[in-house]
This record gives sequence, C-alpha cells and structure tokens, in this order.
Amino acid sequence: MTGPAVGSAPTAQRAGFQPGADLGRPPAPTDLALPVIGAKLLTTADGTVARVADLPADTPWVPLGTLDGVPAWATDLATADGVPGRARGWASLAAEVPEPLATLAGRALAVVTWRRTHRWCGACRAELTDQPGETSRRCPDCGLYVPMQLSAAVLVAITRPGPSGRADELLLVRHATGPTGLWALVAGFVEAGETLEAAVHREVGEEVGLSVDGMAYFGSQPWAISGPGVLLAGFTARAADPLAEPVVDGRELTEARWFGLDALPAELPPAYSISRWLIDATATAGRR
Ligand SMILES: [Zn+2]
Repeated sequence: MTGPAVGSAPTAQRAGFQPGADLGRPPAPTDLALPVIGAKLLTTADGTVARVADLPADTPWVPLGTLDGVPAWATDLATADGVPGRARGWASLAAEVPEPLATLAGRALAVVTWRRTHRWCGACRAELTDQPGETSRRCPDCGLYVPMQLSAAVLVAITRPGPSGRADELLLVRHATGPTGLWALVAGFVEAGETLEAAVHREVGEEVGLSVDGMAYFGSQPWAISGPGVLLAGFTARAADPLAEPVVDGRELTEARWFGLDALPAELPPAYSISRWLIDATATAGRR
C-alpha cells in the first residue's frame, strides 16, 4: 500500500498531534490509519503512515486524535494477511519520523493494547461497552467505569562538580535487561501514593544508593516501549554529597559511573527519547 506524505495536511488547522476520542465524524478515506498487529504498527510498504482507504471497508476504527488537523484512527488487526504493508515496532518508527507522528503512533499502540486487555468487567465479568467520545469503557451490568490509565515513570540526570578545572560530571547507568549496552539515566515507575519528586528520591536511593538535591523539572514524554500508557517525567538534580560514589544492586543495574560532561560515552539512549534530550541539555548547560 502507498500513502501520501503526512505533511500534506491543511495548514489552517492545529499543527502537531492532538489526542482525541471524538473526531465528530466517521473515518474518511484520506484520514490517517494506524493498524496495530500484536505490539507492532502496520505502515505502508515504504514505512510511512497508511490511509483509511488502504484497509478493507469494514475495518472497525477507533479514534486517536488529529495530526496537523487530519483525523487519525487505529484498528486491532489479528493478522496482516491480505493487508499489504510493513509491520514495525515503535522504536524503529520513532527513530525515523517527526516527533508528533511518533507520539501518534505511540497512542495507537497504547489505545489498542488497552482495549485488547480491558474487554471484560474486572468486577462482574460482563463485557464492557465503549463510552462514546471518551477513551474509556463502562460495564452495562454493574456500572464499573474503566478509563484508560497512564503509568507515570520518572528519570533523572544527576550531576556533580568535576575535578578541579574540569567539566561537571553526569551519572549514567547500565541496566541488566533491555538494551544492556546503553548508558542511561536512573529511572523507575511511580508508586501509588507517591509524588514524582518522591519517586526520584526513592529510585536514586534504591538503584545507586545516592541522595540528591536541587531537583528541577525538565519535561515529559509519552513512551511506547516499556508498556502501554507510560508517561515519562524527566528531572535534573545535583548529588547531595559530591564525593559519594554510586553503588548498584547488580540485579536491576549492572554498572553506574560518573562521566565528565565533555567526555560522555557514545552508547547513549536514542535521539527520540526524553532520556537523550535530558543528557544533551545537561551536557550543553555543563559546558557553558
Ligand atoms: Zn461489571
């Protein structure tokens, strides 16, 4: 299947990606289509986003929002049989396409996965029904309301003064699972009843045995790799004791090390991740 470039949308409408569950009309043939197969997205053969007309006419569509004013829809495909195109993971897509389209693709995966795993009422086992205009469902028997929920996670760029006359240092860690070769930031999920800031303090203590102060909010990013509906919140902080060395548990992390901001390793998180945005911003600020 082939599709026109995403950037050919009308410019008078709101630019970028706007999430939405009520697009005000049924899908049109030229609307954006994001079919999901398992944990992958089906794109056109050349790797760009498909159009509604590329899929069979009886495809059931779920609203996602708009990209540069063009409505976007998802569907859950059991198989790619009979549908031409290319199944791609979110990471490979996010590495190539503009950030708003990567975010839309992440929402498609999150919404479809949530619908797939929230079909039955968890209280009375009846089949849930969609709430029109919302990304939520309700039980027709007992009334249970089931909104799509997000999982908040934090990550933090911790710095300390470098040796006399040298650049500041940044703490980077290597994980025991996932991309084990990457030097990443301390990160973890927020517990129920915990603030984002408290989660940063707890994760830093648990993962590397350090204390931090001077914490500042950096930004956030919807993330589609560590599970559906993950929202990453990034922070910067200073090591409370500039002489303290990190201690890893060997279970979650295999290594933690201070790097001079002028001598960061090459194996850093990908350019489309808030982890990398934090590292790059910290390095830029530290070299001033
Ligand atoms: Zn129920």
